[in-house]
Amino acid sequence: MGLLSLGTPMHWDEAKKYADHVRTHGIIQFLNLWEATKDSQKDCLLWGDEIEYMVVSYDEENKKAKLSLRVWEILQELAKEEEEAAKDPAKKLLVNSSWHPEYGRYMLEGTPGEPYMGLPRDLLEVERNMKLRRELAYKFMKPNEVPITLTSYPRLGCAGEGLEPHHDPHGPAARSLFVPDDIINAHARFPTLTANIRRRRGAKVAINMPIFHDKNTPKPFIDPTIPTYNDYPEDKNAIEEGAALPDHIYMDAMAFGMGCCCLQITFQAVNVEEARKIYDQMAPLGPIMLALTAAAPIYRGYLSDVDCRWNVIAQSVDDRTEEERGLKPLKNNKYRIPKSRYDSIDSYISNDPSNKPEYNDIPLVFDEDIYKKLSDNGIDNLLARHISHLFIRDPLVIFHELLNVDDNESTDHFENLQSTNWQTMRFKPPPSKTSPIGWRVEFRSMEIQLTDFENAAFAIFIVLVTRAVLSFNTNFYIPISKVDENMKVAHHRNAVLDEKFYFRKQIFPQSRPGTPAAGTPFGSPKLSHATLPRSTATHSNTHSNTSGASLAPGLDRSDEYELMTINEIINGAPSKGFPGLLGLVNNYLNTLNIDIETRCEISKYLELIKKRANGTLMTAASWMRQFVQNHPDYKQDSVVSDKINYDLVKMVEKINKGEVQVPELLGTFSV
Ligand code: ADP
Ligand code: MG
Ligand code: MG
Ligand code: MG
Repeated sequence: MGLLSLGTPMHWDEAKKYADHVRTHGIIQFLNLWEATKDSQKDCLLWGDEIEYMVVSYDEENKKAKLSLRVWEILQELAKEEEEAAKDPAKKLLVNSSWHPEYGRYMLEGTPGEPYMGLPRDLLEVERNMKLRRELAYKFMKPNEVPITLTSYPRLGCAGEGLEPHHDPHGPAARSLFVPDDIINAHARFPTLTANIRRRRGAKVAINMPIFHDKNTPKPFIDPTIPTYNDYPEDKNAIEEGAALPDHIYMDAMAFGMGCCCLQITFQAVNVEEARKIYDQMAPLGPIMLALTAAAPIYRGYLSDVDCRWNVIAQSVDDRTEEERGLKPLKNNKYRIPKSRYDSIDSYISNDPSNKPEYNDIPLVFDEDIYKKLSDNGIDNLLARHISHLFIRDPLVIFHELLNVDDNESTDHFENLQSTNWQTMRFKPPPSKTSPIGWRVEFRSMEIQLTDFENAAFAIFIVLVTRAVLSFNTNFYIPISKVDENMKVAHHRNAVLDEKFYFRKQIFPQSRPGTPAAGTPFGSPKLSHATLPRSTATHSNTHSNTSGASLAPGLDRSDEYELMTINEIINGAPSKGFPGLLGLVNNYLNTLNIDIETRCEISKYLELIKKRANGTLMTAASWMRQFVQNHPDYKQDSVVSDKINYDLVKMVEKINKGEVQVPELLGTFSV
């Protein structure tokens, strides 16, 4: 579970001297790993979810919900259970989960004990396992503590008694005006990451999310709760020196972003090419699923005008200097970098002929020396660009004890950079040369839902989409700049119903009318290129690798996509002959031999997705807004008070336990 200390982390002033060392060895480690695993073949789908929880501690006397900073103790108990389960087959079934620390000292991450297998029946295991995890987490909590799955905690960073035990704000790592360092996981990695991001950037992070202007919200809104003093004279005064924008909710620490919870799904591919294909095909779905799972409308005690977390996290870990952000001419830094380390992906990576150069249409910044080293060692253009792009970043946390490792055995330096490029998709190589685990892809944009039923539904939907993608050989490519535009739009309040998103019109290969490539089993449809056009098969080696260049040679592909509603993208547009993702999934399921009971159970989950997309049911974000706005204490001034927060958290707990019905969120589904 990785609870043990890894050693002594370096201050940024020291760590930066070793940045090239870590990059150089990281690339050697990747190349060694590549050589050993590039031909690895797996014959079955394995996949798993990650659920992040917040632990809330109720103060019933004062009707307050607080974040419990006791998670370390809970994790130790869970680790013991895991250890015992590993030894005792009878216990294994009862525990069947794996637990991990997360950024916040009030957060837990739980995954299934072993990845799910690829049979349709295995899908029915997902919700059961999520429920088992929640029960297990409860088991080690005090009677007044609960594990809840809220994406952003509404009153994180508000003045008053919001933490259990109480700590005043401030601390040398984050230097926040709102949250204490005690909110950060105590493992040395996390406070160091926080401090080194701030040090590298040259200032505290500044997160500004637009406020939701209600009837009584002052205009302009200048937040009266922002302190005007600083513990550290070199930190800017938030209001006077402009870090806090008018009409925005200002946050000044990594915890506001990395302290959010999300739902991530990892799938194993049969081989590296299939992993690259899934990575590309799922990338345009990142913003769509962000908007569809939107669950984060409240920050630091205010209703915001956005429904989801992504940009909050992007700003919360933005370690780029002013030069890198383009605010000053380049002098001490090497690159202008358009995005935070936490952002949507910058390039497609598949060598499939349907990946036309024009789709990689945003200038990609990459390290030319690293690109050359990768190319010289046989890595193709698209993958070399991807890796050398990840490696423009500096390693943020370096442990003295792990500086010199055996590059034949270790992947630590590679993982150091890989795992701090937090993008919408992650292309995951096998963990080591000898690991039984294959090439995997992680889908990372979804927000965590209030109940296990919903989380299971979204997990199952996403894994079925990947199966349909492989089975029908779909083509979801649109220019990556359009995916970026979708990402911005996805944040808008009620984007799920009110906005349109770029999506590809013709999603089947031209010679194929949408029938399955083969009657493939659920496990691992074999990739077939037989019906794909052959003309561009070698495009990926033909373009310049100039730093900052996009691959697009200028062919206009704008007739390939159009703006669609999420309802159209998910449920289809019959008049346009567009099947929708659910249409694809259902067609795919029709090709399998599934017993009726299993099919009915799966349909229940797909029904939730359908109803969220067509507006029959609200997103968690809309439901929370409504809850706040209908609360008797709400003064139509955007303020989410302690009491509203307490009632909201209680309500979420009751929904989870099935003690109240919320038909506008869940219809008649039982959780
Ligand atoms: P990270 O935090 O690096 O994304 P985790 O270990 O927390 O990764 O979660 C990875 C997920 O992948 C878990 O749900 C796990 O069950 C799943 N998983 C584990 N092994 C495999 C595998 N061989 N193929 C696919 N998924 C796997
Ligand atoms: Mg994890
Ligand atoms: Mg996590
Ligand atoms: Mg993950």
